Amino acid sequence: GLRYLRATGSAVLRAKHHSTGSSGDVQRVTLIKGDGIGPEISEAVINIFKAAKVPVAWDCVSVAPVRTPDGHVTVPEEVIHSMQKNKIGLKGPLETQVGKGAVSLNLTLRRVFNLYANVRPCVSLEGYKTGYDGVNLVTIRENTEGEYSGIEHEARMALNRVPQFTSHSMQVVEGVVQSIKLITKTASERVARFAFEYASTHGRRKVTAVHKSNIMRRADGLFLACCSQVAANYPQITYSDMYLDTACLNLVQDPSQFDVLVMPNLYGDILSDLCAGLVGGLGLTPSGNIGADGVAIFEAVHGTAPDIAGEDKANPTALLLSAVMMLRHMGFQEHAQKVEGAILKTIREAKMLTGDLGGSALCSQYTQEIINNLG
Ligand code: NAD
Repeated sequence: GLRYLRATGSAVLRAKHHSTGSSGDVQRVTLIKGDGIGPEISEAVINIFKAAKVPVAWDCVSVAPVRTPDGHVTVPEEVIHSMQKNKIGLKGPLETQVGKGAVSLNLTLRRVFNLYANVRPCVSLEGYKTGYDGVNLVTIRENTEGEYSGIEHEARMALNRVPQFTSHSMQVVEGVVQSIKLITKTASERVARFAFEYASTHGRRKVTAVHKSNIMRRADGLFLACCSQVAANYPQITYSDMYLDTACLNLVQDPSQFDVLVMPNLYGDILSDLCAGLVGGLGLTPSGNIGADGVAIFEAVHGTAPDIAGEDKANPTALLLSAVMMLRHMGFQEHAQKVEGAILKTIREAKMLTGDLGGSALCSQYTQEIINNLG
């Protein structure tokens, strides 16, 4: 329990909320229950927080997409206002529509609130056996640019060699498209600083930058240069860098060698799922999307699980552990420890586990067992 506590704690808002955190004042949090299993697992968090007397009040908002007059799709005003006021959100999974003109609401939320760092602790849970022991690492993913910048188009080439390059002289090349990976010094330095600050405030000793600067010489080269430059300000933290492919190999061979990993957007998306797999899968892994001034939205790593939605079968642990991360971020250390202790005890005792963990308990029964274990 203690190891997990150290792994997931956050000091970002500790100073800000410290006085309220211990005095019993209620803090308002924006709650987006989400789609699919979202409402069921949100209910679990609400009930457990209530039973644990966590001083949090929920502002529930829905996130149906809104189209602006200029054709952009964004999140409803209600969400924006609520988040601007509360600064802290907890979010269930949102369905991403597939097809032309569809936007990811998850991406939109990250953009609107400039949540530039995605933090995913992956820690072996005591009593839940996987092929790996002693995993205790955190991936920090750049959350705003890279391959997710949405700069995509068909390739065009010059029709004839005219002196002035005008749009008339360019023609679409059938069957060829371009997706641009955007890397900026500002965003790379920002996430690198976040990773080193995170490491220093969480008692972690190593930061590894993950990249492909041998191939993406310019883009990953810049990302890497920013990480090395920031590292120079943190002599107490051991800094190294590793190619993405080597990192994948080393992670499945011996994940215990890793501490904090920082990387561009797409690599972080992929590698953090790999890391989730090392400690028990998507049902167990929490995350936080952190922006400037302590603004943050915490969410489970998994999606809406449409195959089991509405059946009371979902495992709420990932959202619960995200909510625990949120409490630490807000400075509610004791409540975080209490709720986390009950979750870990329930998993360790293995009397009442959901289907994905090999048990036969319903989400509501598992939730009740955690409440019973609050002590
Ligand atoms: P998924 O994570 O929803 O499901 C993958 C598998 O894991 C399914 O078999 C599901 O039943 C299982 N699973 C996931 N969470 C579980 C839980 N808490 N308890 C028990 N089993 C669980 O991934 P998907 O099926 O690829 O995506 C479904 C939808 O979710 C898509 O629309 C996708 O875009 C969206 N999605 C949203 C987010 C987010 O909101 N952050 C993240 C990933 C996917």
